[in-house]
Amino acid sequence: MTNDAPLVPRRVLLRTAAVLGAAVTTRLLTAGPAAAPGGPAPSAGPPSAAGPSAATPVRPDHRLRPLAGHAAAEGRRRLPTPVRTRPVLRMPGAGHPMVLTFDDGPDPRYTPPILDLLRRHHVRATFFVCGEMAEHQGGLLRRMVDEGHVIGNHSWSHPLLTRASTAVVRAELERTSEAVERAVGQHPQWMRAPYGAWNRRVFRLGAELGMDAFAWTVDSLDWTEPGTRTIIDRVLNGAGPGVIVLAHDAGGDRSQTVTALRTYLPRLLADGHRFTVPVRGEV
Ligand SMILES: [Zn+2]
Repeated sequence: MTNDAPLVPRRVLLRTAAVLGAAVTTRLLTAGPAAAPGGPAPSAGPPSAAGPSAATPVRPDHRLRPLAGHAAAEGRRRLPTPVRTRPVLRMPGAGHPMVLTFDDGPDPRYTPPILDLLRRHHVRATFFVCGEMAEHQGGLLRRMVDEGHVIGNHSWSHPLLTRASTAVVRAELERTSEAVERAVGQHPQWMRAPYGAWNRRVFRLGAELGMDAFAWTVDSLDWTEPGTRTIIDRVLNGAGPGVIVLAHDAGGDRSQTVTALRTYLPRLLADGHRFTVPVRGEV
């Protein structure tokens, strides 16, 4: 399942976007007092604000309850993590809500409209961020946490980790977790290997850093820019209990991803599907 774009052009695009992002962030930081750089997000509530369990039907008005207070406390320590031999491919249990995931960001061009859509529909999602993007987008990371989303680790520079040395894999993951922690005060508890390329070493090093391995069930293949209709159809056709959907909020022109989400998200909700974020210990 190595369904990502070719390595070199993709990295060029990501770096370009990161630079653009830094420029936008600078403008934002100079424009408004709300975006305080550097500091962790304030605690937003008691441990009970962790939200409903993943297996519990979720009332719409609670779907966006911020996780910041609980997660910040949890995220300061690395949770004991089993070393898997394969990543989570689907949420377990009958009737489990679906999980939406967005990889490679944050990108100031596409992540904000995705967050807007999720907020409008009271849906939480999981963002597997790249460190080289995240280090410029502390404001977007804080917004994700404030709005109840989960941030996962997608490596620093999106290499093929199965071909990297132990030192490089560790550095790719550790630097990214540190960047996330600097922005939001908690490290990621989930990771997703770039290109879906895992091996025993990647599982082990991720687990040593307190991260469980999370893959996907349905690949929207949005990065190929197949047309909005095709993305919508792939997600709608693949929808079902416990299904994990893969999409991308960076790494290229993701306007089709945003437009497709605008259509398939309300459609899935109208069809009775519900969404959640992964919770450690429940998969
Ligand atoms: Zn990726």
